[in-house]
Amino acid sequence: MRLAERMDHIGTETAFEAAAKARALVAAGRDIVGLHIGEPDFDTPPNIVEAARRALADGHTHYAPAAGVPAFREAIAADFGRRRGVEVSPDHVVVTPGAKPIMAFAMMALVGSGDEVIVPDPGFPIYESMVRFMGATPVPISLRERNDFRLDLDELRALVSPRTRVLVLNSPHNPSGAVLTKTDIEGIASIAMANDLVVLADEIYSRILYEGEHHSILAVEGMAERTIVLDGLSKTYAMTGWRLGWGILPPPLVPPFERLLVNTVSCTATYAQIAGAEALEGPQDAVDAMVAEFRARRTLIIDGLNALPGVTAPMPAGAFYAFPDVSGTGMDGSTLADRLLEEAGVCVLAGTAFGGIATDRLRVSYANSAANLRLALERMATFLAAAADR
Ligand code: PMP
Repeated sequence: MRLAERMDHIGTETAFEAAAKARALVAAGRDIVGLHIGEPDFDTPPNIVEAARRALADGHTHYAPAAGVPAFREAIAADFGRRRGVEVSPDHVVVTPGAKPIMAFAMMALVGSGDEVIVPDPGFPIYESMVRFMGATPVPISLRERNDFRLDLDELRALVSPRTRVLVLNSPHNPSGAVLTKTDIEGIASIAMANDLVVLADEIYSRILYEGEHHSILAVEGMAERTIVLDGLSKTYAMTGWRLGWGILPPPLVPPFERLLVNTVSCTATYAQIAGAEALEGPQDAVDAMVAEFRARRTLIIDGLNALPGVTAPMPAGAFYAFPDVSGTGMDGSTLADRLLEEAGVCVLAGTAFGGIATDRLRVSYANSAANLRLALERMATFLAAAADR
């Protein structure tokens, strides 16, 4: 089969490949602890499931408007206003099947051949993939532990060129758990305004936060007209399989995004959106309980990783990933990840699944039970002790 040339430029998300590999090993009878996927292990809170059931029974089984069910768009705008302290109109909210399409749509709508997009390295791999798919050039900005994995403003200034169109931010950050400060956000905003950049602000982990506060760049004076906020229900409400996400857009981007929706998926599942409104408007105690549990697991995994020989793990401020440096083991992240899967039955990702810089790191998702985290840590300890003896 001869594929279109553009397919040479699309990347992937290594987590899904690792998942397939782990599943194949499990099917072959191996026992694998999977700490590779960023997916809460909790069930969706029952009030949300019940709202979906009711929506189906009430006949919400038809197409919705491309941009989303009005009640859900209103709930999203109200929730954003409440949490970020800045009013947005429901007319500027566009609902998508999961948050991921907002990355694709942003790049489709804004960049082409000759354009540059600044992306975090390490960072979620789909940003770069979509930039390349559009024929544009990703320009990585390095995030380093000595700066708490926050981007350096001088480096950002140096990377901006007359061709830069978009800057991608992700706070709290996958894979490091870093959180940008208010000062960072204000500095980045002034660089974006001075250089006429659009900011794609991936805020999907904004409520999975253990220290500090979440600051949305959209709330900075003058930024609403150049910020796309990407968010959704997947992580906060344990709803990865529902596929509910959205963008909050500068007004001129709403019709192009609607057009992209009409050309691809028509709309997001109607009954699911009605349940999505219940998620945002109903009781929030399940979210609080999940975040409290993630916080306890964070201590468990970070302490456990730091107790392993040759491993140092910084404490993440948000999201649910540990991002340890494993250079002291004598192996790079990629070798260690492969060997842990094959020889220890633990599936984690290499830092290089998130760009070029993090060669000495692993990403370990702690969106898994405390029992599984303990088991994985035991297996890693046994493996590293044996590897050191050899
Ligand atoms: N942004 C980041 C940083 C993520 O880690 C993920 C999911 N792994 C997404 C967006 C996508 O979320 P969704 O499942 O809603 O498409």
